[in-house]
Amino acid sequence: MRILLFDIDGTLLNTGGAGQMAMEAALQSSFGVTEKASGIPYAGRTDFGITRDLFQFHGIEDSAESWRGFLAAYCEQLPKALAKRDGLILPGVVELLHRLSKTTGVELGLLTGNLKAGATLKLAHYDLDHHFDFGAFGDNHEHRDDVAREALDIIRRHFDPHQPDDVWVIGDTPADVQCARAINAKVVGVATGTYTFAELDSCRPDYLFDDFGNVQKLFELLSSHD
Ligand SMILES: [Mg+2]
Repeated sequence: MRILLFDIDGTLLNTGGAGQMAMEAALQSSFGVTEKASGIPYAGRTDFGITRDLFQFHGIEDSAESWRGFLAAYCEQLPKALAKRDGLILPGVVELLHRLSKTTGVELGLLTGNLKAGATLKLAHYDLDHHFDFGAFGDNHEHRDDVAREALDIIRRHFDPHQPDDVWVIGDTPADVQCARAINAKVVGVATGTYTFAELDSCRPDYLFDDFGNVQKLFELLSSHD
């Protein structure tokens, strides 16, 4: 069984900054924050980690109540932000997912730093949600390697544990490459996010593409079995 774990932002789609916009709007509506945070990186990180940094920056208490309020506000703001921003599905993604999801012996899942609710909203906005049966998300883990470990646990529970894992991670940041290594997965990098081809190349993914425009080549790579 070949299992493909896709990242979302910068890999499948680019929301045009809707995620960050929704987080900032959620901080404003829940906690009255008007100042913009600076120096907090987003790409490749989990929303849990990003939100914790935002709480700290704005002096918001890191409590269960804060998290509940933030999550509810974020889920309310994200659809508005997605509608407002000019995002796009990245080249080749629609056809690639369509072909892979019809291929026997290939399962598609998500390995993303997004909150589960955020991932669902983003994918549904671009009509890509129906391709994915399972996923590991950034709700509970600060580090992406732990999201990858959770994905592996899910795979072992849901698929035949006697079959050798043939797990691949597909993503756009050095953190995607690193988390694939944490679970001994193969990794395909794609330079459609904020990192350049050269920056990703220095992390030594197994395969690296400028984009997924050459669908046939990607499809053959991702669906072929040794
Ligand atoms: Mg990404």
